Amino acid sequence: MFFHVMLTTECNLECKYCFGETLEDFDEDFADFNVDYALPRKANYNFDLLAEFCSKDPECVLTFYGGEPLLCANEIRQIMDLAKPKHFMVQTNGLLLDHLESEYINRFHTILVSLDGDEKLTDYYRGKGTFRKVVDNVKQVVQNGFRGELIARMTVMEQTDIHNQVTWLVGNSEFAFSSVHWQLNAGFWANDYARRGFKHWSEKSYVPGVERLARFWVDHMEAKCAVLRLYPFLGVANSLLHKEPSLLRCGGGWINYAIQTDGYIIPCPTMWGMKNYYLGHISNAHPLKLKKIFVGAPCTECDIFNVCGGRCLYANITKRWSKDAYATVCSTVRGLVNAVKTELPRIKELINDEKVSLRDFEFMKYNGCEIIP
Ligand code: SF4
Ligand code: SF4
Repeated sequence: MFFHVMLTTECNLECKYCFGETLEDFDEDFADFNVDYALPRKANYNFDLLAEFCSKDPECVLTFYGGEPLLCANEIRQIMDLAKPKHFMVQTNGLLLDHLESEYINRFHTILVSLDGDEKLTDYYRGKGTFRKVVDNVKQVVQNGFRGELIARMTVMEQTDIHNQVTWLVGNSEFAFSSVHWQLNAGFWANDYARRGFKHWSEKSYVPGVERLARFWVDHMEAKCAVLRLYPFLGVANSLLHKEPSLLRCGGGWINYAIQTDGYIIPCPTMWGMKNYYLGHISNAHPLKLKKIFVGAPCTECDIFNVCGGRCLYANITKRWSKDAYATVCSTVRGLVNAVKTELPRIKELINDEKVSLRDFEFMKYNGCEIIP
């Protein structure tokens, strides 16, 4: 089981798609949901309880999460000194990576660091100076001996040219990432669809960009005999190659859960405070016996449900975007799946020619990459 450990609700950035949207959505409450808005700002339970909870699952993976988890470097040290999960991981905005000593950093199996692409775009979304600090920190982390997986985690919306930004992240001369994941800012807020140009952008820029990017991905395999870990492609291609259907690919609610700052367990970090979805408390729940929550309609009636998996449990439950608006998101999923399907014959040929192998398409599932953006 995978658990996001939400160490704090606070963040040291004010990104457009998160802080900005919170302000715009200020009056929008969840009328149908019973939400506890007064969660403790920092994890306030005894970390021995977390260590004990985790010890009941030999495959337990703990991912530090926030807000910004590195605002709680002390708590991270304490938990890493106490708990013995199979792996530790962290999802961070990267600004404070230099606040944690290498002896801890180098124990992470994976570091997911938020970067939206090049300096101009990252600083546009996340604030001036963010890119420079994060890239300096990432370089330092590697210089100090980190040998785990470093994943650039992009949030994408209308200002993003997906092809240009992903190719920049994997090809720039300063710090080239070999692992990239991206997530659409779509379906998470109540008021944004009407004032945004999401539909136009997704049809004119994003989906054509994904198609070009898929071609680039396979061109790169051909030229370099290596599979870049572009997670949305990697996950879908892996399933298609093995002809395997998939449940919700982030694992939210069935293999990937979150632990709130008060110790209550929820299906996914975005569902913090939603009391109807509290699945127990770390003091008395068993990690292997947690209730499983699955997506419902319209995903369960969708013709590509087996490949998509449902995209997002939170969006499926809260339905913050109308049916028509969400259909534009589903069109992007179709675009992504079709882009990979189009390239599949070339991929199979490269595998047959032993330029790349099936193993190159393997990855640790539920590692914080949702696969379907
Ligand atoms: S494409 Fe849309 S409706 Fe279909 S499974 Fe995915 S999220 Fe659900
Ligand atoms: S995709 Fe949705 S359900 Fe899955 S982790 Fe992200 S917000 Fe949660």
